Amino acid sequence: MKTHFHTRRDFLRTTVLAAASVPFMGAFASSLRAAGPERKLGFALAGLGSFSTHQLAPALQKTRFCRLAGIVTGTPAKAETWSAQYNIPAKSIYTYDTMEQMADNPGIDVVYVVTPNALHAEHTIKAAKAGKHVLCEKPMEVSAGKCQQMIDACKKAGRQLAIGYRLHFEPNNLECVRLAREKVFGDLKIIEAGLGFRIGDPLQWRLNRALAGGGPLMDVGIYALQATRYLTGEEPASVSAITTVTDPVKFKEVEESIAWQVKFPSGIIASCNSTYNFGGMNRYQAFAEKGWFQLSPAFAYGGIQGRRSDGQPINFPPMDQFAAEMDGFAQCILNNQPTRVPGEEGLRDVKIMMAIYEAARTGKAVNLA
Ligand code: NAD
Repeated sequence: MKTHFHTRRDFLRTTVLAAASVPFMGAFASSLRAAGPERKLGFALAGLGSFSTHQLAPALQKTRFCRLAGIVTGTPAKAETWSAQYNIPAKSIYTYDTMEQMADNPGIDVVYVVTPNALHAEHTIKAAKAGKHVLCEKPMEVSAGKCQQMIDACKKAGRQLAIGYRLHFEPNNLECVRLAREKVFGDLKIIEAGLGFRIGDPLQWRLNRALAGGGPLMDVGIYALQATRYLTGEEPASVSAITTVTDPVKFKEVEESIAWQVKFPSGIIASCNSTYNFGGMNRYQAFAEKGWFQLSPAFAYGGIQGRRSDGQPINFPPMDQFAAEMDGFAQCILNNQPTRVPGEEGLRDVKIMMAIYEAARTGKAVNLA
């Protein structure tokens, strides 16, 4: 298949500027047409935890089509700090209970939901009811039913819903998709993928099943699952899985580590791992008929790079994934085009992850086809 990216320079120009017009990952017409006067969309961050503080708010300052226009927080002290640091007026500061009043605030176009996983539906639905577009962090929610409610609420409100899949905007990952789809090394046969880290505070919500929906699979294993789906361009036919817990005090509610296998309809198989018990696993390798390519790290915030079996490096210049993701969504809204990472994409992953957990629980492969 021919893509727009005949040369490395072409690829970079389109990818970095506009988060790309890539003919995979769903229908996404070129946004490079966006001409004329530029309007910056107002983003409100809902949930001012680690990710909003250290990644999203700084990235918003680097965007071309977005600006930090509001916040939603349950902590008055954070409201004060953020208001001073980012010059956010009092009228654009909300709590989770007052979010619906955003309907009266035309300065806010998009709510970016960055709260614990099991609160994503509640906060997305409130934002949609206030007439706002929603960008929601991964995993979309903790059940397929709640994902569907989010999709329905945004549809009813006539607003777009996107999931924070930042790697769909990251050039090294996009290059691997190109290598796979253009069959540069022939048909893919086997993929290995893994992501894990050592989790700290035993009291955090990530270890609480009700708030997290699961353990490392839901939190970071989802990146390995995503990679197997965007590299193959296929949906899993069946999954099998095992989990392990060696520290039953810390991991009394969620798995400590998980290994799963996916069989795709074409016959490609993937072996994936995720853990909360050690760091340093952050990679994928795709083996094809005539060679292989890999990224290591594959899923990091920066420094993503890799190699190919023919000796060529995969190493695009540094860029800001978060800024690209938010600009990409803003352009979709401004140009009335669909996002390449819609709620339906988040729902697909949640359904597959639930099947992976079922396979681990029952010890039997689960068919998804
Ligand atoms: P965090 O714990 O640092 O922040 C969570 C925020 O939600 C806090 O401000 C907290 O006060 C608020 N909150 C509201 N109601 C809460 C409740 N009932 N219990 C606990 N906290 C509550 O978490 P984080 O790392 O910022 O993660 C937030 C979301 O972002 C998660 O869905 C996570 O998966 C996602 N995330 C995505 C990436 C990425 O690379 N895309 C990276 C990190 C986190």
